[in-house]
Amino acid sequence: MRAWEDVDHEGDDDVDAMGATRTDGRRRGARLAGVVAAAALLCTGQVLGGHAAQAAECPAPIRTVLDTTPATADRTVALTFDDGPLPQNTPDVLDVLRSAGVKATFFVRGDQAAAHPDLVQRIVAEGHAIGNHTWSHPDLSQLAPAARVAQIERATQTIENASGTTPCFFRGPFGIHRDPAIAGLAWDRGMTVVDWSLDTRDWSTPASWSSSFQQQIIDRATSPRSAHPIVLMHDGGGYRQNTVAALDDVISYYASRGYTFTDPAGRAFPSGSGQGGTYVVQPGDTLGSIASGYSATWREIYQANRATIGPNPDLIQVGQRLTIPGAGGSSGGGGGGGGGTPAPPDGGTTTYVVQSGDTLGSIASGYSATWREIYQANRATIGPNPDLIQVGQRLTIPGAGGSSGGGGGTPAPPDGGTTTYVVQSGDTLGSIASGYSATWREIYQANRATIGPNPDLIQVGQQLTIPAG
Ligand SMILES: [Zn+2]
Repeated sequence: MRAWEDVDHEGDDDVDAMGATRTDGRRRGARLAGVVAAAALLCTGQVLGGHAAQAAECPAPIRTVLDTTPATADRTVALTFDDGPLPQNTPDVLDVLRSAGVKATFFVRGDQAAAHPDLVQRIVAEGHAIGNHTWSHPDLSQLAPAARVAQIERATQTIENASGTTPCFFRGPFGIHRDPAIAGLAWDRGMTVVDWSLDTRDWSTPASWSSSFQQQIIDRATSPRSAHPIVLMHDGGGYRQNTVAALDDVISYYASRGYTFTDPAGRAFPSGSGQGGTYVVQPGDTLGSIASGYSATWREIYQANRATIGPNPDLIQVGQRLTIPGAGGSSGGGGGGGGGTPAPPDGGTTTYVVQSGDTLGSIASGYSATWREIYQANRATIGPNPDLIQVGQRLTIPGAGGSSGGGGGTPAPPDGGTTTYVVQSGDTLGSIASGYSATWREIYQANRATIGPNPDLIQVGQQLTIPAG
């Protein structure tokens, strides 16, 4: 047994967690004989505009405990968040994911879901997967069989009530789910049991901001290097702002290396149960942010949907259906890719002209470089604030076959203590906050009078005050 199994798996979740029995049952699990899963269980499928639609059945559960995702592509990664939803963390995690255009899986506690059904709805509405993490987070090995069933079924019922979808995944508290007497309960209810291969140990976070701890989370989420990791993080259980702060770098690590962000079963998001290849535009999306969740670049997505998008790739509409090329054998171009010649491959392109709505993150998703690398290569022209890229500005993309340097363009005015930000197309408070030391909540609170009660309803051109961090 490898050392990490003894160490990394024991302390899942809360500081008061035990988990001593965690490793005991780890390899005992023989598979339960095949009990046919209950049919017609609804999966966390795609949700349109907050209304459950296209609910799909859960695929048949994988009757083994997943430590890594199945190898559905050369490189896949499943980001998972446990113990929420919690208002002080989960919206921030969702903001980061939305800004990056990346989907994850949330293993929610039933009691937390009951207390915060709006957050469950948002998780599902934004295309993430929901997993069952029991009702109240007990050590299931200490419970009688009937109590185990009650813990699992009550959580599923709560998730269904909150979101209209049924979880397709299960993770036992403290990772105690190896015993077939526990795993079988999940399998029999249509859920695949999900462990992890990389434990960030973020549950041991100090209850305050810690840059060094954030770096530890990043390191643990990305090493040892693996082709198909399942990464354990937490949005519940207490102060998790260090996780929130680390998340962008974790995503950048994998995105820049060509990983596909999948659910724990290796399915691409959003997966309407095998309907891979279609994505429904959500508020705040850009082609770049959408592309970052797939193996396609934004250019490829644009070309595949040019007939419906029109000449301006920025003008995608919320609710619009886009065909994602190359995602698991997409059949005919639904949007009618009729016109247009295929775009030349990016090979050799070293200059990018900023479009409306671009962020460095969205630009980076079309290349093998990270947004930081692009920023560093263009710092002289961008200035101290990586958010202040200008439409029409030429950026050198490093690493794409010999940067010719310079790129030209007039230097952007230095940021010099500016505390006002003008909302750009595609911005969210989360994406704006990511360029400052303030959180989106702090920005929202500082501008609540002008934004109004819904933090999603910021307007292009609106001036926001950025509070000093
Ligand atoms: Zn937990």
